[in-house]
Amino acid sequence: MGRLVVVSNRLADPRKTASGGLAVALGQALEASGGLWFGWSGHVVQDGTPGEGELHLSQAGRVQLATVDLSREDHDSYYLGYSNGVLWPVFHYRLDLADFDAGFIGGYRRVNQLFARKLAGLLRPDDTIWVHDYHLIPLAAELRAMGCQQRMGFFLHIPLPPPLLLAAVPEHEWLMRSLFSYDLLGLQSEADVAHFSRYVGTETPADILGEHEFRAFGNTLQVQAFPIGIDVDEFTALGRGRDAQEMFDQMRSEYSRRRLLLGVERLDYSKGLPQRLKAFRQLLQHYPENVGSATLIQIASPSRESVDAYATLRQELESLSGAINGDFGQLDWMPVRYIHRTVMRKRLPGLYRAAAVALVTPLRDGMNLVAKEFIAAQDPDDPGVLVLSRFAGAAEQLREALLVNPYDTSRTAETIQRALHMPLEERQGRHQALLARIKERDVHWWRESYLQALARAPASGAPGS
Ligand code: UDP
Repeated sequence: MGRLVVVSNRLADPRKTASGGLAVALGQALEASGGLWFGWSGHVVQDGTPGEGELHLSQAGRVQLATVDLSREDHDSYYLGYSNGVLWPVFHYRLDLADFDAGFIGGYRRVNQLFARKLAGLLRPDDTIWVHDYHLIPLAAELRAMGCQQRMGFFLHIPLPPPLLLAAVPEHEWLMRSLFSYDLLGLQSEADVAHFSRYVGTETPADILGEHEFRAFGNTLQVQAFPIGIDVDEFTALGRGRDAQEMFDQMRSEYSRRRLLLGVERLDYSKGLPQRLKAFRQLLQHYPENVGSATLIQIASPSRESVDAYATLRQELESLSGAINGDFGQLDWMPVRYIHRTVMRKRLPGLYRAAAVALVTPLRDGMNLVAKEFIAAQDPDDPGVLVLSRFAGAAEQLREALLVNPYDTSRTAETIQRALHMPLEERQGRHQALLARIKERDVHWWRESYLQALARAPASGAPGS
């Protein structure tokens, strides 16, 4: 195989722990093939010209890094506007939060064209190109229009919504047609694949050639679920590190008389945080033996703060946690510790391990890696219990978790109560099964199975569209 070229909105240094398992896994594949990683530099040029940006080249070991600056106007319409103001909410089923400003799409196209122009000049004929995520859906179409015939694959890290939700995006036909310029479309779950299949069946002239094969617009596209995993070995090793151990010791001594419940996520409306706080409130109301004991630590790491919906959510969470603490708190006990800060990755395993129960209850989530990290961090002899939303992509795999509907407040409270009182033997049995699942399909399995499928996919070259 020739060189691997990875394209994503942002790059991460694959050699740093803070970058996370995905960056490490992609970094390893790039390193092995002496590959290229291409994306936005993270730099915004205040008075830059739309559609233009300087290209920066650097080297990280055997991997070449190529990044492009964005003008303020492009950044605001491509990144904040279309990617995070339209595609993110709609793909997470939140039409009510989408801002269908007609001005955003121009910037989204312009940046994809800019990326295609800059990238095309760096490509070799035998490169394999792997494009990541919703910011870059039309990239292959732009590259094909410039004559690039390399094998190209796309992986969508977020969910693909059902056809009628997708159809609310004014440009949905163009977006979905753009996907047919790739050779392989990777999705997180079987539910996403089913949505894709139903969309093309009803909204496009595609021929459905097989369960995973679709032909339309002069091209054949393979579509398959590749649920992303974590690097279990790396995360386990992180748990043995000093930072994680310190965190664990600190939590265990501080909460020795309490039962710890834990939530860790970016502060995002897809994560179901208000619903979770309401369920926790019901737990205290309906099962009063938890008052003075059950303590919820909710880490909500700051995210996309310049998008309006996020500021509103922040206020709602502050008010809900304040009200629970006001109504149930005692002089020596606060039920909710709501922390609007990021916890460093190397400390997280200690926090996960100290928790009796993890609450991972998104309203919709592509996969949810926190659920898998929680499992990897547990002591197998005395493991904590995972309460998981059935609407997280991870729920298709993690069947031994306690699955909940996060909209159903009282059943969720009941399930949290069950988790808090689960007998040791049941906890061990469930944890053992979950650990086996995340080990079998870790991030290395994900990368290898995707790249093998891409290598096997019939190459389309330039489709006649
Ligand atoms: N994370 C972290 N510190 C925090 C909150 C989250 O390092 O304070 C990490 C977490 O360990 C996980 C990632 O951010 O690896 C979140 O991934 P996930 O798939 O759960 O959700 P996303 O943020 O991608 O929607």
